[in-house]
Amino acid sequence: AKTLRFVLGDQLNRRVSSLVDLDDGDVVLIVEVMAEATYVRHHKQKIAFLFSAMRHFAVELEAEGIAVDYVRLDDPGNTGSFTGELERAAARHAPTRVVVTEPGEWRVWAMMQDWRDDLAVPVEIRDDNRFLCPRREFADWAGDRRALRMETFYRGMRRRTGLLMDGKEPVGGQWNFDADNRKKLPKNHAVPNRLRFAPDATTREVFALVERHFAGHFGDLDGFGWPVTRGEALDALKHFIADGLPTFGDYQDAMKAGAPFLYHALISPPLNAGLLTAEEVCRAAERAYREGAAPLHCAEGFIRQILGWREYVRGLYWARMPAYAETNALDATRDLPWFYWSGETEMNCLAQVVSETRAHAYAHHIQRLMVTGNFALLAGLAPAQVEEWYLVVFADAYEWVELPNVHGMVLWADGGVMGSKPYAASGAYINRMSDYCGACRYDVAKKAGPDACPFNYLYWNFLMANADRLEGNPRLAMPYRSLAKMTPARKAEIASDAASFLDGLSADAPSASRAIP
Ligand code: SF4
Repeated sequence: AKTLRFVLGDQLNRRVSSLVDLDDGDVVLIVEVMAEATYVRHHKQKIAFLFSAMRHFAVELEAEGIAVDYVRLDDPGNTGSFTGELERAAARHAPTRVVVTEPGEWRVWAMMQDWRDDLAVPVEIRDDNRFLCPRREFADWAGDRRALRMETFYRGMRRRTGLLMDGKEPVGGQWNFDADNRKKLPKNHAVPNRLRFAPDATTREVFALVERHFAGHFGDLDGFGWPVTRGEALDALKHFIADGLPTFGDYQDAMKAGAPFLYHALISPPLNAGLLTAEEVCRAAERAYREGAAPLHCAEGFIRQILGWREYVRGLYWARMPAYAETNALDATRDLPWFYWSGETEMNCLAQVVSETRAHAYAHHIQRLMVTGNFALLAGLAPAQVEEWYLVVFADAYEWVELPNVHGMVLWADGGVMGSKPYAASGAYINRMSDYCGACRYDVAKKAGPDACPFNYLYWNFLMANADRLEGNPRLAMPYRSLAKMTPARKAEIASDAASFLDGLSADAPSASRAIP
């Protein structure tokens, strides 16, 4: 009996559930298809990273003596879709069954249901063992509760895995050490070089393919430095644990112009593609703490991102989709401004983050949440457009991780399922956590007028415009009290500054500028 094992591009792990019982005579199918590269116009580095990692993974399987049927994007006869390629492979190999691991996105999950109905052979869909919390378990925990808080889930996961636990108690007597994790980078602080990987022959071959087929997509390939094999991904993890983790916590919220990586792990692309597992990443950070190589607040803050936040957004995605994406709790409808693609804005913070994103297909969590995200929230940008942007521009973005983070955390479009309040902030936050404001044409200290930092009046304008929805929120009691003390004239000034700024935003490319970057 021959089994056809279909491994998707983000399941590149020898231990993934679809490969655990691999037998002699089985065939592993891996396909590059146009539909997956273009259902949104992914950043060039994202496509290059995945195709290169897929090609390397196929070679590693073959080196083990495993039969791999690898379909390249340019292969004659490539139908361009998962379904078409699975049908062709089933005809080539005449397997007795097909085995797959459940996918990361609803879109593909729906396809898999059709495979079960339409293929002539049985299709077995297995749990995704790249995650620590199975979908069913999260759904049981979530039940039909309206609000789902990460912190409660995270504590459960700590208990379940024993990570950073002393018996029944959290190590250090506290679950969360975020109070120690919000430092600004000291002036003249030298950020160390981070480990990046020069593109090898396979990656360079993929670059040529990407330039041939996806030249119009956002992003540059020049700055590519992602690990594309399991070996490189493990090197990246080791490097981070030794050089980044001991300082990670302190400066994880800091931003610095020209320093896109700071102390961040840079493992989200390989982790989300299966080259690393959540479990090994968390265990490595815990080991560093237990061996005295990293302080507790750094190890805990990092582990919370993976064991807590990442597992939580993935569970929420599967428990609440597809209805989750449909809400728009703040009735936000403005089109995404063109500068999200071009970086052409006088707001230095946004220009920095967009240009770093174009160069690296990466921005760290505070840049995503408090710069591009905060602006999208305050300006009332339409959730679906913002969500597509996040899915396109980051090398680590898949809908399971992007959608809850943007819909719930960034835009509060879910009306409070994820977060108890919107993460709205004025320019003062960005100024405190970065060095962006010094070089900005706007003045972060000014509250009104054409030179004032737009975040300042947009923040108050956002609270005024959404008062009927947010005023009763206890976590916003303080800003609403300040708002209540403002004179009608001051409120009118805020509304007028915000209106003239927002009216000046354009969703279209200036005619001189190139088409979609
Ligand atoms: Fe951004 Fe305002 Fe600072 Fe300029 S002044 S960098 S717009 S926060």
